[in-house]
Amino acid sequence: MKISILTAFPEMIQNYLGTSVLGKGIAKGKFDVKVIDIRDFAQGRYKQIDDYCYGSGGMILMPEPLRKALEHLSEDTKPYVVYPSPQGVTLHQELVEDLSRKKHLVILCGHYEGVDERFTKKYVDLEVSLGDFVLTGGEMPAMAIVDAISRLIPGVVGKSKAVKEDSFYSGMLDNPNYTRPSKWDGEEVPEVLLSGNDKVIERWRRRKSVERTFKRRPDIVGRAGIMPWLDKGAYVMEIHYPVLDKSGEKSSTAITGMDLQDIARACRTYGIKKYLLVTPTAQQREMAKKIITYWTKGLGSKCNPNLKEAFSSVKIFASAQKALSWVKQKEKVEPYKIATTAQIGEGATHWLSLKREILFENLSPVFMFGTGLGLHKEILNSADAVMTPIIGGTDGWNHLSMRSAVSITLDRFFGWR
Ligand code: SAM
Repeated sequence: MKISILTAFPEMIQNYLGTSVLGKGIAKGKFDVKVIDIRDFAQGRYKQIDDYCYGSGGMILMPEPLRKALEHLSEDTKPYVVYPSPQGVTLHQELVEDLSRKKHLVILCGHYEGVDERFTKKYVDLEVSLGDFVLTGGEMPAMAIVDAISRLIPGVVGKSKAVKEDSFYSGMLDNPNYTRPSKWDGEEVPEVLLSGNDKVIERWRRRKSVERTFKRRPDIVGRAGIMPWLDKGAYVMEIHYPVLDKSGEKSSTAITGMDLQDIARACRTYGIKKYLLVTPTAQQREMAKKIITYWTKGLGSKCNPNLKEAFSSVKIFASAQKALSWVKQKEKVEPYKIATTAQIGEGATHWLSLKREILFENLSPVFMFGTGLGLHKEILNSADAVMTPIIGGTDGWNHLSMRSAVSITLDRFFGWR
């Protein structure tokens, strides 16, 4: 990756790049940062780059030296131009990740009152702000952007595991950290950290991250994928009985190979522990078993190892009750049963509230999906929560296939930002 910083104060940035971890990354050739003095593209003896602002009297950067500098930098390919500005979008981790994928990034440091609007309109792809406050120049924001990007480039920061554990990277804030001495100023390091038990320490750190995020930044929970933060497994249940038929009567339905394959793949993608297939009909269970065996042990397993993995998560049961008892035995806690429906009904809980609850209470959720015309009230009434339906357009039509509903639901809870 190449980053070019256009500035009227190159020494400010050079000093920083030379002394920080970034400097080492640049020296190792992990990425390339060039600092360009805008004055090199100015005309006249005084190398003028700024002038009075019409109507205000303050100074702003002139467009022509900036254009010349940019043309100089655009010789091979068109770079992506970022202008740090208090009027831009606030910098956040996803944006840093997007910027880190640009081949050539140009960061234009404004100064004084800013930059001539005609230049920003024509050449700037994105204005980025560090927050709702005003700095004297764009050099510090430029350094912040380069610094945040560099952490994502393998080999710049020593341990990539440490980067992944940082705040925002995996959706939550980092846990509190401690170093030696274990007792300082009358305060002890939490005992668990001295236990030497990696598993227990890992669980403690996860819970602290969750607690901290809820306390300080509850707003980021909604868009986080919560799977890495749960101690217990999450499950998907496909129910073929009791469901509703066209006339609203209690009925059973047939298994379809397409659902089986698509849902198994979605479950594997989102880290679902088991895809529980529930049908009371022995023949149906036999058929499902044949399909699964073909993909896990038969010819299919040799042709497509990815599907072998996906199908390995399917487990067949004769009833929802049997499946739930199996989950309870496996997880050693009562599963949290979430029934899904396409109907807007009384007492339903918003998926965001459910997400928060699962995370905060560290639950083992079972998402129950109905075939036919949906789950029978027997299942809806026995669930711990009924999730509000998935709704998209403006007229409320929401007759999704079950496999679409499964994928959308899993993405809401377990999809990465
Ligand atoms: N007149 C501008 C305004 O009110 O929007 C502020 C100009 S500021 C004094 C000078 C330069 O500092 C800007 O052009 C920009 O490059 C940089 N800057 C100031 N505050 C910033 C912030 N919060 N985020 C990013 N860049 C900032």
